[in-house]
Amino acid sequence: MRGIAVLGATGSIGTQTLDAVRTCLPHFRVKALTGYANVDLLAQLVKEFSPEIVWVPEEKIEPLRVLLANFSCEIVTGEEGLHTCATLEGVDIVVNALVGRAGLAPTLAAIHAGKHVALANKESLVTAGGLIMPLAREKGVRITPIDSEHSAIWQCLAGNENNAVEKIILTASGGPFRTWERSQISVATASHALKHPNWNMGAKITIDSATLMNKGLEYIEALWLFDLSPAQIEIVVHPQSIVHSMVQFADGSIMAQLGLPDMRLPILYALTAPARVFNTFPRLNLLAHPTLTFEPPDQERFPCLALAKRAFEMGGTAPAVLNYANELAVARFLRGAISFYDISAIIGQALDAYTVKPLSCAEDIWEAEAWVYERLKD
Ligand code: NAD
Ligand code: MG
Repeated sequence: MRGIAVLGATGSIGTQTLDAVRTCLPHFRVKALTGYANVDLLAQLVKEFSPEIVWVPEEKIEPLRVLLANFSCEIVTGEEGLHTCATLEGVDIVVNALVGRAGLAPTLAAIHAGKHVALANKESLVTAGGLIMPLAREKGVRITPIDSEHSAIWQCLAGNENNAVEKIILTASGGPFRTWERSQISVATASHALKHPNWNMGAKITIDSATLMNKGLEYIEALWLFDLSPAQIEIVVHPQSIVHSMVQFADGSIMAQLGLPDMRLPILYALTAPARVFNTFPRLNLLAHPTLTFEPPDQERFPCLALAKRAFEMGGTAPAVLNYANELAVARFLRGAISFYDISAIIGQALDAYTVKPLSCAEDIWEAEAWVYERLKD
C-alpha cells in the first residue's frame, strides 16, 4: 500500500485524482488532503478517505471544524501546515494539484523530504525547473507529469531511454478563440474565454488555454522535464485533443499517445507507472473521431507563446516574472478589470522592465515575485 497526499484536493485535478485513487483502492491510502474555499467538499472528502491531516486557510478552520465535529482528523493551516502535508511521514507520493505560484514551496518541500511528486502544478517547473530537477536527482525521487501532453511524451519515451530524440511535438487545442479574428478576441470577456471546447478545468488554466500561455508554460515544463533544447520542441495546434503529444526519434519515426480528453488517465499513470491499471473510464472510439487535424499556432493573435519562449531564453528568474505577471493579469481579467490583450501586454512590459537574476535558490524566486507584485498590485 502506498501513502499519498493530495494538495488541492477540491480542484479540477484534485477531484479527478481522488477518482483515479478510488479505482485502485486498497493499494493507496490517502494520508493528507488540502482544500481552499470549498470546505463542504473538503469535509465530504475527509469523511470518505479518512486522512490523518487536512489543510485549509486560517479563516476556514472553524467552518471545517464544525463540519467535521465527531470526526478525528488533525486540521492544519498556514505555510507550515502545507509543508507538513507535503512532507508527512508515511506519504510516498505527493500529488501537487495546487494552482499557480502557491504550488512551488510544497513541491520543493516534498522533494527535500524524499517524496515522489506527481506534478500537475506546472508553475513549479516553469519557475524553478533549474532547482527541482537537480534536487530530484540528488534525492532519488521521481517527478511524474500529470499534464496530459507531458504524460504522453513520457509514455512515448518509455522503453526508448537509449534512443536519441530528434524533437517532441507538443499538441495544443488552440482554445476557444482558435478561429476568432484578432478584433473579436480583443473584446472577448472572461465568460467567452472560460468556454473551453474540449477540457473542463479550473479558471486560471482555462484562461491560460485561451491566451495560449498554457502552451507557453508547457513548453518550459517540457524543456525541464525531458532535458531538451528549445530547437527540439515543436508546437502544433490539434483542435480535437485526441493526440496528446508525440516524440520523433533519430530515425524519423514518430510515436504518439492517444486518448479521450480525460485527465484521469494521465493522473492514474502518474500514480502507478510503469504499471497500467484497469479502470472503467470511457474508451476512445477512433471511428467517432475520424478527423484528426494539425495546424501551426498563430503567434500574432496569441502573443503569450512568444513571451514564454522569450522568458525561458532570458533564463534565471525571468520565467518566475512571466509566471506571476500572468497569474496576476489573469486574475484581473477574470474580474473584468482588463481586456484580453492586456494580459499579454502586462506580461511583456514586466519582462521589458525586469533585470534578470541568476536562479540559485527558492529565495531568488520569491524576490522576483515580490518585484512583480510591487509593480502589479491593485
Ligand atoms: P483548480 O482551480 O480547479 O484547483 C486548484 C486547487 O488549489 C483547489 O483545491 C484550490 O482550493 C487550491 N488552491 C487555490 N489557491 C490556493 C492557495 N493560494 N493555497 C492553497 N491552495 C490553493 O485548478 P486545476 O484546474 O485543478 O489546476 C491545478 C494545476 O493543475 C494547475 O497548475 C494547472 O495548470 C494544472 N493542470 C490542470 C489541468 C486540468 O485539467 N484542470 C490539466 C493540466 C494541468
Ligand atoms: Mg496540458
